[in-house]
Amino acid sequence: MRITFLGAAGGVTGSMHLVEAAGKRLLLDCGLFQGRRDEAWERNAQQRTEADRVHAVLLSHAHIDHSGALPLLASQGFRGRIHMTTPTAPLTAVLLRDAAKIQARDTEHLRKHQHISREPLYTPEHAEAVQRQFQTADYGAWFEVAPGIRALFRNAGHILGSASVHLEVRENGHSPVRVTFTGDFGRRGTPILKDPEALDPAEVVITESTYGARVHSHGPEDAMTPCASLLEAVQWILRSGGKLLIPAFSVGRTQNLLWSLNEAMDAGQIPRMPVFVDSPLAVAATRIMEAHPQCFDEQALQRLRRSLALLQSREVRFTEGVEESKSINTFRGNAVILAGSGMCESGRVLHHLKRLLPFQENCVALSGYQAQHTLGRRLQEGRNPVQILGDEVRVEARVLSIRGFSAHADRDELLSALQPLQAQAGRTFVVHGEPEQADGLASSLKGRGFQGVFVPQEGESVEI
Ligand SMILES: [Zn+2]
Ligand SMILES: [Zn+2]
Repeated sequence: MRITFLGAAGGVTGSMHLVEAAGKRLLLDCGLFQGRRDEAWERNAQQRTEADRVHAVLLSHAHIDHSGALPLLASQGFRGRIHMTTPTAPLTAVLLRDAAKIQARDTEHLRKHQHISREPLYTPEHAEAVQRQFQTADYGAWFEVAPGIRALFRNAGHILGSASVHLEVRENGHSPVRVTFTGDFGRRGTPILKDPEALDPAEVVITESTYGARVHSHGPEDAMTPCASLLEAVQWILRSGGKLLIPAFSVGRTQNLLWSLNEAMDAGQIPRMPVFVDSPLAVAATRIMEAHPQCFDEQALQRLRRSLALLQSREVRFTEGVEESKSINTFRGNAVILAGSGMCESGRVLHHLKRLLPFQENCVALSGYQAQHTLGRRLQEGRNPVQILGDEVRVEARVLSIRGFSAHADRDELLSALQPLQAQAGRTFVVHGEPEQADGLASSLKGRGFQGVFVPQEGESVEI
């Protein structure tokens, strides 16, 4: 068996690992690189593997840094199946459609304002066409990937449909070799979704390390309740009279924030106020989530039993159309605005940032991981002014990071999920983390007796 780390190696985005075994070539994930626009475009435009020789893709979850290169792979000649869990299919479909739209908008913007002509990585038609290759499986059900190779998904508790991937390869005459890939691994006790399931023992382990060297300050029990820093941000705008803008991933984070805001208003912890969800993608993702109650935890099911909608309430206003979206601008008084994208790279959040950042009564609350070279990261680092849509914008609003909403396990949570695999694991690869985080997790794993722990670089290939 040979594994080549084609992305999310030495960094977080662009998740893609090539497994060559039993005469077949499989990809674990097929994601886009994110970050500086030009650099990301170039990295994504480069063909990372001979697409027509890939037999199948196993997709851990719908996030675009894991799924976003699928239409590209197909347009480069990939004809095989793309295996994923049942809820991941509709989520990936809407995310790919959205990614194609963003690319079309970006290339148009470049052509018009910078006279740079560039092809989008793929079109909405490509994003549509690749769905014919989707093949869904339920959690815990074995399926054949190729003769001699079978796989199953386990709930990873990261976003709806997210999975750790367990592969079993039988090459003639040899005892089976198993591979466990954590995908993005979630936390216990987060809202709505069931907790992550145990990982399956394997000879080869590939683990994410987004927070491989960090411990979330909030314990898992705190994640059950609306997190204190979110409520603090709301209290702050109540005093200042401004708006609270939360840039949020449309899939996962937005639903968790909605859940927490609704629960806090129901419990009287904060007064009732309008919550605008300004993202057609978030609206679609929320509907998909509501259609998969089999993935809900007890708390979410209880809410349904009380005849309350999972995420909708009188306060929550979904704005799908552009005109509805613009009506937020004229709204007077306190309000919370959730808008994509989570790292402030594109989407409607940019217009809200441009409008709200120059005024000190407003508050921008960043939630979750902000990748290097993104506007979100620059705001988090306190840069002032910042560039938004070609303009210099002063940052007078309060900028803070709200904690307790991470969809990624921290160091201790990863270590306790991985520990039961230590006895079998002959090789452990640490991916999906910035160097400090990946190295940190690697040394913790070595300290716990893991053998053959390695942090691969992008493009690095290992024979097993
Ligand atoms: Zn993810
Ligand atoms: Zn990821």
